[in-house]
Amino acid sequence: MKGRFVLFIVSGVIVGFLFGGFLPGLSLKLSFIGELFVNALKMVVLPLIVVSIANAILNMETIKQFQLVGLKALFYYTMTTALAVATGLAVVYFLRPGVGVSFAPQGKVGKDVSFSLHDLIVSLIPQNFFKALAEFDVLPVIVATVLFSLAVLAVEWKEELTVKRILSELDVSILKLTDWIIGFAPLGIASLIAAKVAAMGGAEAILPIVKSLSKYMGAVLLGLAVHAFLTLPLIYLIFVGKNPYEYIGKVKEVLITAFATASSSATLPVTMKRVIEAGVRREVAEFVLPLGATVNMDGTALYEAVAAVFLAQCYGIDLGFSQYLTIFFTATLAAVGAAGIPEAGLVTMVLVLESVGIPTEGIGIILAVDWFLDRCRTAVNVLGDTIGAAVIAKKMEV
Ligand code: ASP
Repeated sequence: MKGRFVLFIVSGVIVGFLFGGFLPGLSLKLSFIGELFVNALKMVVLPLIVVSIANAILNMETIKQFQLVGLKALFYYTMTTALAVATGLAVVYFLRPGVGVSFAPQGKVGKDVSFSLHDLIVSLIPQNFFKALAEFDVLPVIVATVLFSLAVLAVEWKEELTVKRILSELDVSILKLTDWIIGFAPLGIASLIAAKVAAMGGAEAILPIVKSLSKYMGAVLLGLAVHAFLTLPLIYLIFVGKNPYEYIGKVKEVLITAFATASSSATLPVTMKRVIEAGVRREVAEFVLPLGATVNMDGTALYEAVAAVFLAQCYGIDLGFSQYLTIFFTATLAAVGAAGIPEAGLVTMVLVLESVGIPTEGIGIILAVDWFLDRCRTAVNVLGDTIGAAVIAKKMEV
């Protein structure tokens, strides 16, 4: 049944592209199916984050154990993101996709493109937990949940905690609900992709744009492929000692969902379910996956570095070693700051561009293909999280 289900999901992707490309009218009419699917995923995300993080921390027994998992996670996130950015920089440096390309920006960035590090840091601690929940501010929700849970862990209780039982019951129930939602994944994924392709104007409108930006897209995709199929599997092999491709095979549904939704956060319920089923220890997965979906974005970091250097090449701006270094650090930061929602990376990219003096309106040049690259980088972001959960769980055994 499982094998057949994955086949349905893959068929959903193909059907989605064909419908969107050749039957755009119908695809737009049927877009409500995809919207329902994403709504359902988002509906479970926040309860899942709060319950699973609290459950994971309460099961850790000591604050020391929490610190150990937390430190290992931060170390893994930093190292893999840095490797991703380095890969992106190497690819764009050697392929030089922007040299000789000159065109006017084709559109405006639809969202507010201001991004400040100060605001990001201050917003980490929410004044109002419920407001953060209502506004889907995932990072402050995580921080508050961690603090509340650590407080429970720090008190010396005389009896067995009731809250522990309640949390574990809620946890299992939310994953059951996720199971039902996953049942609709093939239809939801087909509809999401079809609607997006149709909204971009169908095959006739997309193909010429793809052709004009093919070198840039090629550079981003090559970088993402190296990170996803070589670097991350190698890390898995070294630290977990098992066949990485077998593990990736077990979680491939997660990657397709990430591609279809373009959102690490919306994919989180599916990630959690499949990673635990693939054998990763529950307490570790429940803590590191929500955190990873929000701050660990290898694909986004790689993409931001490639896009920034590509735009510099388009504008004929010569970048020296120190500017590459600046891009290296700001792309890493910008990826941490990006929320796990569609095209968030495009907004935080302003930080990277401004740090080395590349005109921010250059974003308009790459806007036309961002919807597609966003999906690819989201899949890599989520792959980084699934491998991270396995690596950290293994390191906790030692
Ligand atoms: N869509 C990405 C994600 O959710 C973030 C980005 O725009 O790069 O992981």
